[in-house]
Amino acid sequence: MRYISTRGNAPFRPFSEIVLSGLAPDGGLYLPETYPVIGEQELEQWRRLPYRELAFQVIRRFASDPDEADLRAIIDRTYTARTYRSEEIVPLTTVDGDVHILGLSNGPTLAFKDMAMQFLGNLFEHILERTGRTLNLLGATSGDTGSSAEYAMRGKRGIRVFMLSPYGKMSPFQTAQMYSLTDPNIVNLAVRGVFDDCQDLVKKILADGSFARSHGLGTVNSINWARVVAQVVYYFKGYFAATRTSDQEISFSVPTGNFGNVCAGHIARQMGVPIRKLILATNENDVLDEFFRTGVYRVRSSADTYQTSSPSMDISKASNFERFVFDLAGRDPVTIRDLWTRIDSLGRFDLSGTEMFSRIGQFGFVSGASTHSDRLRTVRDLYHRHGLLLDPHTANGLKVGLEHKEKGIPLVCLETALPAKFEAFIVEAIGRRPPRPTGTETIESLPQRFHLIDADEAAVRRILEESPLL
Ligand SMILES: *Cc1c(COP(=O)(O)O)cnc(C)c1O
Repeated sequence: MRYISTRGNAPFRPFSEIVLSGLAPDGGLYLPETYPVIGEQELEQWRRLPYRELAFQVIRRFASDPDEADLRAIIDRTYTARTYRSEEIVPLTTVDGDVHILGLSNGPTLAFKDMAMQFLGNLFEHILERTGRTLNLLGATSGDTGSSAEYAMRGKRGIRVFMLSPYGKMSPFQTAQMYSLTDPNIVNLAVRGVFDDCQDLVKKILADGSFARSHGLGTVNSINWARVVAQVVYYFKGYFAATRTSDQEISFSVPTGNFGNVCAGHIARQMGVPIRKLILATNENDVLDEFFRTGVYRVRSSADTYQTSSPSMDISKASNFERFVFDLAGRDPVTIRDLWTRIDSLGRFDLSGTEMFSRIGQFGFVSGASTHSDRLRTVRDLYHRHGLLLDPHTANGLKVGLEHKEKGIPLVCLETALPAKFEAFIVEAIGRRPPRPTGTETIESLPQRFHLIDADEAAVRRILEESPLL
């Protein structure tokens, strides 16, 4: 399997090379030349596979390197009952008849990002060992990505993590998760500023090619292709868990920020999983809901990006969206270059009334948005009727999912975090604190370790430079 860029001006590359790089050299995103298609018979055979075996079957279709034995070993190390708290890895809970929640948040940081990030940690370590290279991962986080990356990379040979986070802006639980890590290869940079300041610093430093090369810099942001591929697996698993035979259709509802999770759903659908609808849910930051309703994609400024009670969905533009638009455009890189030139100059493009937008129905997407009061109501209602507790992100997904629920079509809502991560919200919703998984009960009282810095590029560079290369 070879990889191409959505902008059409990058050489073909194999899997193990593209997963270590971010954007393609032409500024596009990597995608496989074609999607592997799984026939109905094969799908039926996969139905009974345990998670690890299913993950191997799916990921192998996208990764011709590492070789099969190595890939299997990486996957077997990743998807364990020890890391994800049950042998099922992603347990399905039935809420009401044929409405289900797929539990993707039982990994070490209690958010679905662990599903892919744990795999990435083991994959990177393997690739670096084979090539003798080392990697300094530089990233910015508003909460979940940073902790997920740190827990995936801690103690890994040849890898160090420098993670910028907005000082005082994350939930106390998220802050404690990151800052309490004491592994020498994890460096937390608490920035006096907001998430966008952190993101800008990372972008500026990575844009300095010679500095990035000489310091072996890389990223694990949401455009990383291996993350998307690892997420495809649980769409298969969720499909099997909610159906009996492989001629049945189901719909998924997906709380969305950077379009990473739902991009994996799009790919699972292209591969042949009988997904009727991909229900995309946003919060008040409704860039993507607006696009799927109207055809207008309009990125927001940071001043127009709201801070909400589902902070991991507070995005102003969706970094993986270009992958879907490439498919929508019939995989024409000229169209993509043109559209993203418009984004760069005008901050928007408008596909309404075009032949291209009229094809959108073929891809199964529908969308909706949810507000703070919707989240509260959804969480309260589910708790009082069923004794189940959801985090505010998953609540966005359930709210919008139910609006699009069709009779006779099972609905699987992807759970993207556990309520324990968002205690203040849960207290507001139901008047009591959420239960905490074993081992996290007193996390806020652990000693914390971080560098407190101004939103200043020189300060970040200094810390990178002062940390000796591994
Ligand atoms: C990252 C995240 C999202 C958004 O996922 P994308 O892949 O960026 O669309 C939603 N909910 C939670 C809890 C997250 O951490």
